[in-house]
Amino acid sequence: MSADFAVPQTDAQRKWQAEFRRRADFMARDDLDEWCRINPMPKEDEEFDPEPCDHEWQVQDDSFDHEFGTEKVIYERCVKCDETRPHEPYDDSHCDDREGK
Ligand SMILES: [Zn+2]
Repeated sequence: MSADFAVPQTDAQRKWQAEFRRRADFMARDDLDEWCRINPMPKEDEEFDPEPCDHEWQVQDDSFDHEFGTEKVIYERCVKCDETRPHEPYDDSHCDDREGK
């Protein structure tokens, strides 16, 4: 039986479908199929608990030059699941070193 695109009946199934749609936004079709194979839609008496990813963030720098300067496009991408997050540069200004200014 194929329940891949069945109407979700349980919270777990709704959660699964939301996760599926979220992934459909950034995953390639093949990767998405692979994800479905590893994480099929939960049955009615099952909980949905996607395999947690032990994210391995890698800084992506898609900055580009244009006629008015450089557009900074820097973010981080997980090499395992392709999830992205904003890059927060390490702040090395030691403002708290001394008190008062
Ligand atoms: Zn990840």
